[in-house]
Amino acid sequence: MITENIARIKRLIQEAAEKSGRSADSVKLVAVSKRFPASVIEEACAGGQLLFGENYIQEVQLKREKAPKNIRFHFIGHLQTNKAKIAAQCCDVIETIDRLKLGISLNRHLENLNKSMDVLVQVNIGEDPKKAGVAKEDAEILVKELQSLPNLKVRGLMTMPPIEPTAEHSRRYFRQLRLLARDLADKGFFTTPDEIELSMGMSSDYKVAIEEGATIVRVGTAIFGNRPAIQ
Ligand SMILES: *Cc1c(COP(=O)(O)O)cnc(C)c1O
Repeated sequence: MITENIARIKRLIQEAAEKSGRSADSVKLVAVSKRFPASVIEEACAGGQLLFGENYIQEVQLKREKAPKNIRFHFIGHLQTNKAKIAAQCCDVIETIDRLKLGISLNRHLENLNKSMDVLVQVNIGEDPKKAGVAKEDAEILVKELQSLPNLKVRGLMTMPPIEPTAEHSRRYFRQLRLLARDLADKGFFTTPDEIELSMGMSSDYKVAIEEGATIVRVGTAIFGNRPAIQ
């Protein structure tokens, strides 16, 4: 089932990309395996999916040990500063940098490990009190400050917009994130301003997000089904 779902979603990603004049390989699919056992990762891997999203550091650590070695983990949850050391060790990309203190801590641990890491800045684009992320108007200063940390490669922005009744309602948030990223890129604040990453869109709205420029979509339920409850 997982393999079929991934194949279907990849087709739909391709359609959405082509519809907006982009190539299918300009969009990466992060399979959000949070709260599922490591066995689902193995199944997805067998079907060729190597990129996964998790929102608890302990889960990444555990799944790293069990899962095939060639997979990559994007961290997409709230990262406590005291977990930055483990994150530096076991994650490939942190999508949710939302404060300087976290960036400084992560940079220091990466330096100790003698490595650098791609990161995204999480923006609370819909100003939703229930969502994490730096406020839109504070994004510029944060991205600028993070840029001075040599072991962090700030590649772009990520967002979780407020829950809306339809995907079409979310379009304006995706557009706002793209315009914000464009503005920051023009000011030279990203490591690679010509290849800005925009992580936006989930199971219910990834097609609209791609039409608005998403380069990373984070899809859980549509691949793995309903998640087990938090224990
Ligand atoms: C859980 C989660 C997703 C996946 O959501 P689905 O609706 O299951 O596709 C995407 N992004 C973040 C940040 C998440 O926490």
